[in-house]
Amino acid sequence: MRFILQIAILLIPTLVTAKLSWYKGNTHAHTTLCGHADSSPSVVAQWYHDHGYNFTILSEHNRFIDPTTVKLSGEVREDFILVPGEEVTGRKHIHTTAMNVGKLVPWHFDHPERSGIIQQHVNATRAAGGTTILNHPNFHWAVKAEDLIPVKHLHMFELYNGHPAVRNFGDAHHPSTEQQWDAMLTSGMRVYGVASDDAHQFATWGKTRSNPGRGWVMVRAESLCADTITEAMLSGEFYSSSGVQLKTLDLNGGTLKLEVDTSATEKELESPILLGSRVKAGQPGYEIEFIGPEGKVLHAEKGTHAEFKVPENVAYARAKVTLRKHRKDGTVAAYFAWTQPVFTDGR
Ligand SMILES: [Zn+2]
Ligand SMILES: [Zn+2]
Repeated sequence: MRFILQIAILLIPTLVTAKLSWYKGNTHAHTTLCGHADSSPSVVAQWYHDHGYNFTILSEHNRFIDPTTVKLSGEVREDFILVPGEEVTGRKHIHTTAMNVGKLVPWHFDHPERSGIIQQHVNATRAAGGTTILNHPNFHWAVKAEDLIPVKHLHMFELYNGHPAVRNFGDAHHPSTEQQWDAMLTSGMRVYGVASDDAHQFATWGKTRSNPGRGWVMVRAESLCADTITEAMLSGEFYSSSGVQLKTLDLNGGTLKLEVDTSATEKELESPILLGSRVKAGQPGYEIEFIGPEGKVLHAEKGTHAEFKVPENVAYARAKVTLRKHRKDGTVAAYFAWTQPVFTDGR
């Protein structure tokens, strides 16, 4: 009897895992409704539909676009949805994506502290049935990790945003979004990193344009609907990409294990829209790093697959895959995949 029970227990995770699928999505895009983007909600949704995405959010500045009003043309894939949302565009350059809300979220919040404004974004979004992604913290250097650490019920922020003006990688005087992430994680926050487009231009193209197809999430969920996608992201069941695609990802049992999907990555890199981050150093090829508190690299290796057992005295670890590649102009560009952290402290 005990033996049968043990077999049953061993089988349960396998059965649950078997039902999960990967869905590609973008959580941040704009339309003509904001007055400074170039395409209608239908054209924007159609672009994501036609480029193999499974979901997108038409996250308009302080406007709620009801997905049922957005019409796609041609043969519409069944595995494509619009997740309702809004970019709550508030004071002090604080912008948040209200993901999966049922109605317009207000934005006129004020408070002496930035964290107080962000908390009100989060509260109002929760009241509208949704969840918050803090957007592009380095846009106007608006948000620091210490502004986010006190905020309750905030579990996602934009680690990578494809807009050319948002300074994902910081500068000599400001930390990168990734350094901010490690500061938040080191403080004990449970916060996940999102990659998005923040696309405004679907009619003109170029490196200085705010085009789609530059940052996305791959979400592992039971089904493709707005609620399950949102819940999966809130559980950290996704990774973020600026070009690198994964074949396998296992974050269970305190071990991080992953393998790059090299052919899917090469296919993504064929896109002329993909930005790639210009880097000064590093050999071309794949490198996998496992990163822990304070951004310390716990282990790194070259190659397309790796496994790392998180030591029990380390509160969290996350994996980052970097692909460095020579470009035609002789510079080296880097493309990334970032997994969510594994926590050993039960947060
Ligand atoms: Zn914004
Ligand atoms: Zn935006």
